[in-house]
Amino acid sequence: MKRLGILGSTGSIGVNTLDIAAAHRDRFEVVTLTAGNNLDLLKRQIDEFSPRLVSVATEELALSLGRMLSSRRPEIVYGVPGLIAAATADGIDMVVAAIVGAAGLVPTAAAIKAGKDVALANKETLVTAGRLIMEMVREQGVNLYPVDSEHSAVFQSLQGHRNVDVRRIILTASGGPFLNYDLDRLEQVSIADALNHPNWSMGRKISIDSATMMNKGLEVIEARWLFDTPPGRISVNIHPQSIIHSMVEYVDGCVMAQLGVPDMKAPIAYALAFPERITTGVQPLDLTTLSGLSFFNPDDARFPALGLAYRALASGESMPAVLNAANEIAVEAFLNGRIRFTEIAAVIEKTMDRHDSQSFATIEDALVTDLWGRETARAVLADY
Ligand code: NAD
Ligand code: MG
Repeated sequence: MKRLGILGSTGSIGVNTLDIAAAHRDRFEVVTLTAGNNLDLLKRQIDEFSPRLVSVATEELALSLGRMLSSRRPEIVYGVPGLIAAATADGIDMVVAAIVGAAGLVPTAAAIKAGKDVALANKETLVTAGRLIMEMVREQGVNLYPVDSEHSAVFQSLQGHRNVDVRRIILTASGGPFLNYDLDRLEQVSIADALNHPNWSMGRKISIDSATMMNKGLEVIEARWLFDTPPGRISVNIHPQSIIHSMVEYVDGCVMAQLGVPDMKAPIAYALAFPERITTGVQPLDLTTLSGLSFFNPDDARFPALGLAYRALASGESMPAVLNAANEIAVEAFLNGRIRFTEIAAVIEKTMDRHDSQSFATIEDALVTDLWGRETARAVLADY
C-alpha cells in the first residue's frame, strides 16, 4: 500500500490523481489533502477518501470546512504551515505536488526534507530552485518522479539506457490555441480564447502558459534539472497533435519516444506506480485514425517566451526564478483584463532586464528572489 499526500487536490492534476487512487484502492491510500478555497469539492473528496489531515488556504476557510463536516472528520489545518503539515505527515510515502505556481516550492521542499518520494506536477518548484531541490533529493535519497507529460515521456524513454549516452532531449509542444496566429491577431485575443487549449484540459494558469509557450520555456528549465542536461542539449519541436509526448535522442542516432492519447492520467499513474504500470482508463491510441503527425520549429518572433526561458537559464541561477515570478504576475494581470496577451512576455522581459543574477545558497534565497520578481513585475505593470 502506498500512502499519498496530495497537495492541490482540487485542481486539474489533483482530481486526476484521485481518480487513479480511487480506481486502485488496493494500492493507494490517501492520507492528506490540501486545497485552496474550493471547499465543496474538498468536502466531497474527504467523504470519499477519509484522509487523516486536510489543509485549506486560510483560517476562515478552515472554520467553514469544519462546519460543513460531520463528526468523523480529519484534522483541519491551514496556510503555509498547513501545507507543510500535509506534505510531511507521518506515514506518507509519496507526496503529489500539484499546487500551481511557486507557492508549491516550500511544501515540496519540506516533503523532500522529510524523506518523502515526490510525484512532481508543480514545475514552478524546479524553475525557481532546481539545483537546490535536486541536491536535496540526492542528499535525502528520495525519488522525484515527473508528472508533466513531456518529462514523464523523457523519463520513460530513458529507462534501460545510460544518461551518458544521451545526445539530446526533444520536448514536444502542441503550440497552444494560437499556433498559426500572426502578431496582429495575437494582440487581439480574448481571455476565453487563450484558456481554450486544443488538446489538454488544464488549470487556468498553465492554459495561459501554453498559449504564450511559456509553459514550454518552464519545461525546458524543468528538464534541465530533472535530467541534469545542459540547455544546449534540450530542443523543442512543435507537434500540434500531442501524440508523441517527448523524445530522447542517443549518441548512436536512435530516438526513443513515448506516444499516447493526450490524457494526464497516464503520466500521473506512471509516477504513482513506478516502475509498475497500472490501468488508467486512458483511451487506446489508434494511429490509423490519425490524419498525420507533424513537427516543426517554434517561431521565436510570435512566441518570445520560450527564448526568454533559454535566456534565463544562460543568465545565472536566480534569473529563472525571476522569469517564473514575473510570469505569474503577468498571467494574473492578463486574466484580470489589465494587459493584452502579447504584453505578458514584454512584462517578463522588462522584469528580467532589471535583475542581476546571483547564486542561491538556500531555498530562502530563492524565495527572496521570487518575491523580488513579483514586486518588480508589479512595478513594471504600473506602466501599462
Ligand atoms: P489548477 O489551478 O487546476 O489547481 C491548482 C491546485 O492548487 C488547486 O487545488 C488549488 O486550490 C491549489 N492552489 C493554488 N494556489 C495555491 C496556493 N497559493 N496555496 C495552496 N494551494 C493552492 O492547476 P493544475 O492545472 O492542476 O496545475 C497544477 C500544477 O501542475 C502546475 O504547476 C502545472 O504547471 C502543473 N501541470 C499541470 C498539468 C495539467 O494538465 N493540468 C500538466 C502538467 C503540469
Ligand atoms: Mg507539460
